[in-house]
Amino acid sequence: MSHILIIEDEEAIARLISLELQHEGYEVSCAADGRKGLNMALDEDFDLILLDLMLPSLNGIEVLRRLRQSKQTPVIILTARDQVMDKVVGLDIGANDYMTKPFATEELLARIRVNIRKVGVIQPEIIVANGLRVELSSRKVEYNGTEISLTKKEFDLLVYLLRNCNTVLSREKILDEVWGYDYYGNTNVVDVYVRYLRAKIDDIFDIKLICTVRGSGYMIRK
Ligand code: CA
Repeated sequence: MSHILIIEDEEAIARLISLELQHEGYEVSCAADGRKGLNMALDEDFDLILLDLMLPSLNGIEVLRRLRQSKQTPVIILTARDQVMDKVVGLDIGANDYMTKPFATEELLARIRVNIRKVGVIQPEIIVANGLRVELSSRKVEYNGTEISLTKKEFDLLVYLLRNCNTVLSREKILDEVWGYDYYGNTNVVDVYVRYLRAKIDDIFDIKLICTVRGSGYMIRK
């Protein structure tokens, strides 16, 4: 049975969706604020998460951003706001789908089915590239069988670069994606962490993993 987490502070909506889903045979858990929802999403392996954006204690975008640092559980964003910016930000940081309230239950059910089916095909839990093997759930990194010990930020940066292989990523973009929109430092921190990664991977294994694209940013070529 698929297990769905609903993170929604409006009790009436959460209850309604919950009943509909249970009726369809899903197991359902609910969280009424962002922080609680994030903790549940990190602790348990749900098959899908329905995420409201306007939430107390931690907003939906922040919940999603933090979730994506370690988990690829499919997320459908639910929101009353029909603003392009929210959609862009949400999809940009890894939402799988988006629904604007009020929505028809049938459509929600259809999208839930599609997004649960897609799992594993689109976002594998293991990334293999250029001799590296990265296990997302356990945050384990190996190069040709040799384990590499990375800090949390080094790991997040490596995963972000690997997920976007063959794409030049600007320092600003990397900062937004890896450090988050609430980070107020300057982009030098990106250079510093690229140096850390090179010291632990490129220098040790004598490879050229992370390329500097002059004036533009960084890229891993597959
Ligand atoms: Ca809300």
